[in-house]
Amino acid sequence: MNDFVLCIHGGAGQPASIFNDDRPRSKYLEVLKQSIEAGKKILEKNGSAIEAVEASINVLENCPLFNSGFGSALTHEGIVEMDASFMNGQDLSCGAIASVKYLKNPISGARLVMEKSPHVLLVGDGADQYCQENGMITVTNEELIDDFRKVQLEEAIKNNRLQLDHHDEHDNSSEKKYGTVGAVALDKHGNLAAGTSTGGMTNKHKGRVGDSPLIGAGTYANNKTCAISSTGHGEAFMRMVTAYDVSAQMEYAGKSLKEATDFMVHQKLPEIEGKGGLISIDKDGNFAMPFNTPGMFRGIATKTSAEVFIE
Ligand code: ASP
Repeated sequence: MNDFVLCIHGGAGQPASIFNDDRPRSKYLEVLKQSIEAGKKILEKNGSAIEAVEASINVLENCPLFNSGFGSALTHEGIVEMDASFMNGQDLSCGAIASVKYLKNPISGARLVMEKSPHVLLVGDGADQYCQENGMITVTNEELIDDFRKVQLEEAIKNNRLQLDHHDEHDNSSEKKYGTVGAVALDKHGNLAAGTSTGGMTNKHKGRVGDSPLIGAGTYANNKTCAISSTGHGEAFMRMVTAYDVSAQMEYAGKSLKEATDFMVHQKLPEIEGKGGLISIDKDGNFAMPFNTPGMFRGIATKTSAEVFIE
């Protein structure tokens, strides 16, 4: 049996800018630790990469500090619209949902679509309805809203800004904040899986969908190469088809995971001013978590360690 590896992220950007008395740095570290431990526990007991990815992401979705599930960023109208995707590297099966409004845990909805539906991507009411009919926990849209997000939206509207999470003081572009959650895992059976879940951007147009629910942009997993979950300026990640590009560099150009992810994050994305990062594990258990922003909430677990980082 192989050794397992698990990586998580909670968004890239300038994380320090988001800390305050109500949202202390220590709390972020504590929840990242809970997330990594939740997935690690599963992998230690020979559980699947899919189970581990879902468990780690559920912890972050349930915490209002992160931009997914409860505490998601708000549209211009003050509504939560969430996106998520899941991919199984064993057979390339995948599932995604976009612009859902009533799911407690969108990543579990994406897994449901992957495992039960004949489709890959469901959006809007149809996605909410499918998940509800198949037993997913639903809530009201209001229940997903944290007061912090209302203040953030007011500021964004006042400044006429479209915002990702985690303010970056040194970034003069109109999109100033990043945030999203994701996980990738290699289990003891040698299978890879990846998942990503987000509320998208503050003050986004209703119906805007980013990279996170798009297989190949925000999420990709293939047992032949690697598993990837992205975070950052979604439009740039879509234009670069980021997650699949890393896998393709490995498959067709023989690059290592480190070479492929560094090329993407430090060379390709900057060509179009794409800010963000990604977490990745290859089929041999190597991992890389590069970012081109001041920081990225992230964590890594192996048989012998579990660590979380912010800067
Ligand atoms: N990539 C996400 C989006 O554009 C946001 C993020 O990662 O923070 O919706």
